[in-house]
Order: sequence, then structure tokens, then C-alpha cells
Amino acid sequence: MVENPEAGLFELDDEHEAFRETCHGFVERLVMPERDNAERNGFPSALWRQLGAAGLLGIGHPEEDGGTGGDYLAMAILAEELAKVSGGIAVTILVSSYMAAPHLARFGSPTLREQYLRPVLRGEAVAAIAVTEPSAGSDVAGLVTTGTEVDGGYLINGRKIFITNAGVADVVLVAARTGQPGSAGITMFCVESSAPGIELSLPLAKLGWHASDTREVSFQDCFVPSDRVVGAVDSGFRQIMMAFQGERIALSGMGVGLAQAALDEARVWARDRRAFGVPIGSFQAIGHRLGEMETAVTAARLMTYQAASRLDRDHPDAAKAVAMAKLYSARVANEVADSAVQVFGGYGFMADSPVALHYRDARILRIGGGTDEIQLQILAKTMGL
Ligand SMILES: Cc1cc2nc3c(=O)[nH]c(=O)nc-3n(C[C@H](O)[C@H](O)[C@H](O)COP(=O)(O)OP(=O)(O)OC[C@H]3O[C@@H](n4cnc5c(N)ncnc54)[C@H](O)[C@@H]3O)c2cc1C
Repeated sequence: MVENPEAGLFELDDEHEAFRETCHGFVERLVMPERDNAERNGFPSALWRQLGAAGLLGIGHPEEDGGTGGDYLAMAILAEELAKVSGGIAVTILVSSYMAAPHLARFGSPTLREQYLRPVLRGEAVAAIAVTEPSAGSDVAGLVTTGTEVDGGYLINGRKIFITNAGVADVVLVAARTGQPGSAGITMFCVESSAPGIELSLPLAKLGWHASDTREVSFQDCFVPSDRVVGAVDSGFRQIMMAFQGERIALSGMGVGLAQAALDEARVWARDRRAFGVPIGSFQAIGHRLGEMETAVTAARLMTYQAASRLDRDHPDAAKAVAMAKLYSARVANEVADSAVQVFGGYGFMADSPVALHYRDARILRIGGGTDEIQLQILAKTMGL
């Protein structure tokens, strides 16, 4: 009989379960107490070094670059635990270490890895990734920011929008057009945020993710030396698509964590809140709603873990599993957060209510890192359509 490498994946093994405990303990001790403050005043910068010291910024990164071992499944678990607290806090961390830094880890030269990746994994520097433009979001191949070759490097000109961590980043991974139109002419650059020619907008006011910093980033004749090209010239599109896989696992994990937290809040509320002389959880309408929420969260978690494990094993259907997990988990986060607000009644509509926070933070999960529609396009393609 052929051994099935995915056998037993329905439960976490001891190693990943222990890692979850580590993440959970860290989050309860050092992240949860910061939540309210972060919602009002942004990400607490002291957290970076604490995360670095705990090894939570280096999961899956090469050990020679300061990585701390682990795999995509472990990263999904971290994303889940962080998003139980706040989507804005979670995405700040995940963008730096698991959406921007992987470009350096996978495609960066030894010098770039030494200079920029190591400090990011230690929590001594923050990274951002700037791909989206005012006229090109889902259509990455349509980006128009230019990287024009000049003596000793490139001049970057153009505008990026919705860039997470822009205001706090030390280094920005920037996609710019160096060649022909379409996917074949894009290059990734590693740009110091203090470089002359970069201008940041004020923070963009958002529906959710209040703890995260999101801005427009403009480049005007911003000189980037040739040795800051990440990977090969004109290969940026392929690199971005490869990195998207990990990014989507992080976002799927966030959806699961957010949904679990909203469910946990709703369950306690349903037990404690009384109406008509009884706990509201004793009404079948509420009890069944919670049952539906629990089922959806469990399914989203299984899909996320399966997708992460498939990515870890280079499974031929990994990209399909990732697209399904991202799509489903984002939807579940929205549905479950909405249900939690309903269970809370008017209290759930109050801005400081924890379920209101999850409700606000859920919506972007269906847009960022590839919208629902883009995931469905990917799936349709895998189905031969
Ligand atoms: C808070 C926030 C943080 C972000 N952080 C970053 C970041 O750090 N770095 C970065 O580079 N980007 C970031 N983004 C950008 C994000 O990835 C894009 O918003 C997303 O990819 C969608 O692009 P768009 O907003 O331009 O929408 P569009 O691409 O204009 O899409 C608009 C609508 O059209 C649909 N659509 C588009 N193409 C198709 C198609 N082929 N088939 C069917 N429907 C389609 C979409 O699904 C969507 O419903 C962030 C966005 C937000 C809001």
C-alpha cells in the first residue's frame, strides 16, 4: 500500500500543538493587553523586539538568515492566534515577516539578506511590500510604476496605494516595470524607506484594521542601486505569484482566528445574557446559530491547515488548496463576525465591543491578498475552465 503523506492531518501533531501553545501564551501575555491602545494609537512598536526574541518573526525562514524553523502550517497557526486579538495587529506582523520578507529570503542576494532580512526577523526593522497601484490591484501585470535603468542602478517613478506598514517600515519591497508591458517586464526592488524620492501620504482612514498603518507611497526619481534588485530583472511577476501562496495562508489563518474569537465571545454572551427570564443561548435560534458558527470555523480551519500542509509538501494541488482556503476562510470570518454581532444585540454595535472589532476587521479579508473573485478565477482555471 502506498503511504499517504497527508494521513493524520486532521489534527495537529504534537510539535504544532506545542507551537500553538507558545503563540497563545505570547499573545495572551504581550499582545492582548495592547489591543485597545493599538486600536486607537496604532501598533505598539515595543512588540517587534519581543516577537523577534520569541522567534515568532522567523518561522519558515532559512536558519542561516536568522530564521527559527517551522513551516507554513506553523505560520498559519501564528496568524490564527494573532488574529484572535486584532486583525490590525496581526496583519502588521504578518506583512513584515511573512509577506514582504519572503521576497528577500527566497530571491534576495546574500548581502540583501544580511542587511535587511536578518534585522526584520529579529524585530529590529520592519518591512512592507508595495505592489498595488491606483490603477492596478488585482491586475498585478498592469502596474505602471517604472524602474528605469541608469548608471549604477534604477530610478523608480510612480505611485503605490494601500501599502500596509508604509509609515513604520525601514525597508519596502517595490514592484516596478523595467521591461515590456504585461507580466514579463516587472522587477522587485529592495528600497530603504528613507531613500530620497520617496514620499508617504498621511495614514489612510480605514473601515477596519485600525491598528495597522496603511498609506500611499509615491516615488519620484528614487534611485535604487543595482545590487538592490531582488531576484532577476523582469522576473518580479513570477516572484510575486510565488510569494502570494504564503501570503494567502497567512490571511486564511487570520480568518480562522478572527472567526474563532468572535465565536468564543458569542458563546459566552449567549450563556450569560438573559431575556424573557432565561439565557439567550437556550433559544433554539441562538443555539443553532452558534452550532452553525462552530461548524464553519472548524471547516475553515481544516481547509487552512490542509492548504498550508500542501504548500509545505509542494503538493501538486497546493495552489488550488490555498485559493479555496483563502476564499472560504475570509467568507467564514465575515459570516461568523456578523453572527456574533447579532448574538450580542445592540452591545455588538458599540465601537469598543470585541465583536465589533472583529466585524470591522473581517471585511478586508475578502479583498486583500487577492479578492474572492480572483480566488474563484484561480479555481476555475484549475478546473480546466
Ligand atoms: C487595508 C489594505 C491593505 C493592503 N495592503 C497592501 C500591501 O501591503 N501591499 C500591496 O501591494 N497591496 C495592498 N493592498 C491592496 C490589495 O491587495 C488590493 O486592494 C486587492 O488586491 C484588490 O485590488 P483593488 O483594490 O485594486 O481592486 P480591483 O482589482 O480594482 O477590483 C475591484 C473589483 O473587481 C473585481 N475584479 C477584478 N478583476 C477581476 C476578474 N479578473 N474577475 C472577476 N472580478 C474581478 C475584484 O474582485 C473586485 O471585486 C491592501 C489593500 C487594503 C484595502
